[in-house]
Amino acid sequence: MTAFQNLMAFQRETEALGQVMGRLGWDQETVMPAGAGAQRAEEMGALDGVLHGRRTDPRIGEWLETAEAPDAAGVRQLEEIRFSFERTQRVPAKLSAALARTTSLAHRVWAEAREANDFAMFAPKLSEVLDLTREKAAALADGGDLYDALLQDFEPGATGAELEAMFGALRPRLVALRERVLGSERQVPAMDREFAEAGQLAISTVLAQAFGYDAAHGRIDKAVHPFSSGSGLDVRITTRTELRNPSNCFYSTIHEVGHATYEQNVDRAYLLTPLGSGVSMGVHESQSRIYENQLGRSRAFTGWLYGKMRDEFGDFGVRTEDDFYAAINRCNSGFIRTEADEVHYNLHVLLRFDLERELVAGRLEVADLPEAWNARFFNDFGVKVDVPSNGVLQDVHWSEALFGYFPTYTLGNVYAGCLNEAMRAQVSGIDEALALGETRLATDWLKTNIQQYGKRYLPKDLIEKATGAVPSEAPLLDYLDTKFGEIYGV
Ligand code: ZN
Repeated sequence: MTAFQNLMAFQRETEALGQVMGRLGWDQETVMPAGAGAQRAEEMGALDGVLHGRRTDPRIGEWLETAEAPDAAGVRQLEEIRFSFERTQRVPAKLSAALARTTSLAHRVWAEAREANDFAMFAPKLSEVLDLTREKAAALADGGDLYDALLQDFEPGATGAELEAMFGALRPRLVALRERVLGSERQVPAMDREFAEAGQLAISTVLAQAFGYDAAHGRIDKAVHPFSSGSGLDVRITTRTELRNPSNCFYSTIHEVGHATYEQNVDRAYLLTPLGSGVSMGVHESQSRIYENQLGRSRAFTGWLYGKMRDEFGDFGVRTEDDFYAAINRCNSGFIRTEADEVHYNLHVLLRFDLERELVAGRLEVADLPEAWNARFFNDFGVKVDVPSNGVLQDVHWSEALFGYFPTYTLGNVYAGCLNEAMRAQVSGIDEALALGETRLATDWLKTNIQQYGKRYLPKDLIEKATGAVPSEAPLLDYLDTKFGEIYGV
């Protein structure tokens, strides 16, 4: 066996064990018996130790020295392996262990502080997490920018400065759009009654099929927080229901189907290799968002969904397809990011991106964070945050040291805007098909141009290859202006 073959065989076992770890996590969130928690923690801890040992195994370094890739895809495999291996080498084991220990505690303290609406309860733990994160960033950055070093875990190749420029162009137009929409005189209908859970879940299953989710290589269960889990031949999703708000269930399902079909559609030649999954958080989110918003919340598709709703629930108080489309896309100035509509969502993310960059750079103290959050929220949303659980304590990310994760949500929306524009320029008849509940014209284009490649190309190169243009925020802004301008008559 050559060094390349040895390395790939070793890697394949590591990838397989990584999938097992993911499935344990899926089980814990869905069907695990309530009393099994303590044992599960030990099981996952043991497997984590095995995975850590494999990922830092010195033989990887030796094989990398002499391995020769047989083709261009092999070159990318080696790049991915080298990137991960060098990153694990740079962070001292003691620091890694301290971060794991501290975030596990911080997560619990954050949940308690949120429940009690008391930021001061969480502040000391957040400071510890931030200090350790900055230490880790310094080890990774090698003299470079700390935030950029952290970003690489989520969006390879991205820089804070480049995102700042893109987000800086987004923010004023989004603020202006939300002011126009909320100032509109037009009455957008709401769905105000109960929808039986069984009916919601039946439509949810139909939606997953309609968007090409392969049920032979996946399954749908209920969980508190919707997620997608796994790669390749076993990619599972979860959804949730809310009695008075069926679109929560429908669009959670479509969103997770976007993530899951991306993983299902990666070229099988890359199965259980470093290239065998989605390339970045941003590109992943672009798939879930384009399925959910540009396709699933379009006038054409909601027209078809309206028929399904009438079949299942009879007359539910919304008179026409147009009213249903408006109700599905109704805008509200809420406090909570995960409940935000398309107009408000990115403003929530931009706020977090700016604040976390300040924290990592040491220009903002944890003690001053709530005030900075509330001032920014008032500035962009025109509303005063009432309690910390509606403000700085609402998201789990910082307690888990996920600094650099937030911007990938908006980057995903930006990429979705670029892909939607290019796809509609290249493929005709998408809306006519969506009006019949048929998404294949669109999802096949996404499979061919994005999903099949896995990690074969870096995120920005992949988007540019698919669209023929450097990624830009302009298509997303144009799409939002047109769509919500029409719905709200502004
Ligand atoms: Zn997502």
